[in-house]
Amino acid sequence: MPEAPKINNVSEYDCCGSNSSLDGKNKKALQFIEDVTSNADEVQRRVLAEILSRNVHVEYLQRHGLNGCTDQETFKKVVPVVTYEDLKPEIDRIGNGDASPILCSQPISEFLTSSGTSGGERKLMPTIEEELERRSLLYSLLMPVMNQCVPGLDKGKGMYLLFIKSEAKTPGGLVARPVLTSYYKSSHFMDRPYDPYTNYTSPNETILCPDSYQSMYSQLLCGLYQNTQVLRVGAVFASGFIRALKFLEKNWLLLCNDIRSGTLDPKITDSSVREAVMKILEPNPRLADFIEAECGKDSWSGIIIRLWPNTKYIDVIVTGTMSQYIPTLDYYSNGLPLVCTMYASSECYFGLNLNPLCKPSEVSYTLIPTMCYYEFLPVNRNSGFNESFSKPVSLDDKENQDLVDLVDVKLGQEYELVVTTYAGLYRYRVGDILRVAGFKNKAPQFNFVCRKNVVLSIDSDKTDEVELQNAVKNAANNLLSFDASLTEYTSYADTSTIPGHYVLYWEISVSRATPIPPSVFEDCCLTVEESFNSVYRQGRVSDKSIGPLEIKIVESGTFDKLMDYAVGQGASINQYKAPRCVKYAPIVELLNSKVVANYFSPKCPKWAPGHKQCLAED
Ligand code: AMP
Repeated sequence: MPEAPKINNVSEYDCCGSNSSLDGKNKKALQFIEDVTSNADEVQRRVLAEILSRNVHVEYLQRHGLNGCTDQETFKKVVPVVTYEDLKPEIDRIGNGDASPILCSQPISEFLTSSGTSGGERKLMPTIEEELERRSLLYSLLMPVMNQCVPGLDKGKGMYLLFIKSEAKTPGGLVARPVLTSYYKSSHFMDRPYDPYTNYTSPNETILCPDSYQSMYSQLLCGLYQNTQVLRVGAVFASGFIRALKFLEKNWLLLCNDIRSGTLDPKITDSSVREAVMKILEPNPRLADFIEAECGKDSWSGIIIRLWPNTKYIDVIVTGTMSQYIPTLDYYSNGLPLVCTMYASSECYFGLNLNPLCKPSEVSYTLIPTMCYYEFLPVNRNSGFNESFSKPVSLDDKENQDLVDLVDVKLGQEYELVVTTYAGLYRYRVGDILRVAGFKNKAPQFNFVCRKNVVLSIDSDKTDEVELQNAVKNAANNLLSFDASLTEYTSYADTSTIPGHYVLYWEISVSRATPIPPSVFEDCCLTVEESFNSVYRQGRVSDKSIGPLEIKIVESGTFDKLMDYAVGQGASINQYKAPRCVKYAPIVELLNSKVVANYFSPKCPKWAPGHKQCLAED
């Protein structure tokens, strides 16, 4: 067996010299992908051995009796497959200032706050300085791949709407923030050398502005001002890009005024943003007239290509729950290609799409074998009506052995992703379900199927069935004093509004003749929202990425009709349970046709910046 190539990053993997041209750099990146995927099994073995040999003395591995072994077999035998909840005691200790090597021999540099939650709060993922390099590595592969499909992207700019979010500090003094905030604030992003592929219309200062209005306004202003130079537009998730278009719809007059006069609206008070924007902006009445004429038209169909006429594609994630935004993006862009470039998380960055111009429904991500050590837990989804999962939360010994390695997954099979990272997560269940769609050399390519258990999502919020059930139960208590009760419910993520919002369909039984006042149902809406996790509430309050929750009261007998429909489609009457979330258009139509009243949450739920476990906010 050939020796596994010691490949950690592209620059180490020097086939063209360090001062190579753009063409040379692209070739080097593609060669890197070729080599790590061809040697996926050896690279994975080496990655695991490296992680284990570095961390052989950490408390966690010692406790599990790894005894200094670094081989796959022993590792799999003694180290359990875990969830975040299993690691919570260790994570709390790190957060409280215990700097001893608990999970990782290298110092924990910060916590990354995941959009997944535990006990209503964002999960805190420990990370180490060196992980920034791995993230940068994955980013550096994206454009060489893209360049193969759309050449010439180095001749213009990207209009990417990128944002940071608030930070907090743990009692022990570690910063806790989202992974992208960490990345944008790092020298890897801030001090990046000139590169035509990271040449964005947004100056760094506008991205780093903590005020979301000022950040959005100034980024759109710079993007509009440089409109003809823009060759690609994007944001991280589709929901974020659509939010930017909605912002534009509200603010284009102000933006045009600034472009016409070459001045900046006084609402932009951040001095570094003002300075950065004023370096770019000069009066351009012709451009202002053009934008005003386009934005003033009745229809916003194709607005993206009208305002940014040289745009070749939209770079946003539209896989997973984000696929609900594809029709909206198609409308705004007249069907420009939607490009999903990468698959990543707070735990670790995983992979990239090697066929970026494929249809969104066909997107598959090739997991890069140097990022972490991957394992896969086969899952068999209930093919039932509500698409929940049959897997228990913790695994017994038999299931522990069912995990397969990266190169052993089977085409067409679905798996839950389990990772062992350089930052000290061992056999950690990420919670994503992936399906093998093909192979790049020996490395599998995965469709993103869904996040385990998540029933509702609009932006980065992820609401699972249990949380929904508890929230609805709390809210339904408001009906009791009116001798009414909730008999059935289901939910729907309505993205036809911008921002999207959660809709609950309620069938209630009422024994009194006097009607229930609307304010009671509005209170129910708010109670549901107050019961949801902090990511949902942040989306409502701070990011404004989620609209007010709506309860639609449906006429009595509606859920029986729903069952009739499901049975008509082949569901078994014995096993039928009302789905707690609906997506299928005919069912949503059926429910909507039975609505007798609807109510919205009258105000935002409570949410405070920072993490509950963290004391100070920066
Ligand atoms: P976070 O840890 O908050 O950054 O969220 C990471 C999660 O976002 C992943 O575990 C996935 O569930 C989801 N995600 C990330 N990238 C993609 C993608 N390309 N397609 C679909 N979902 C994604």
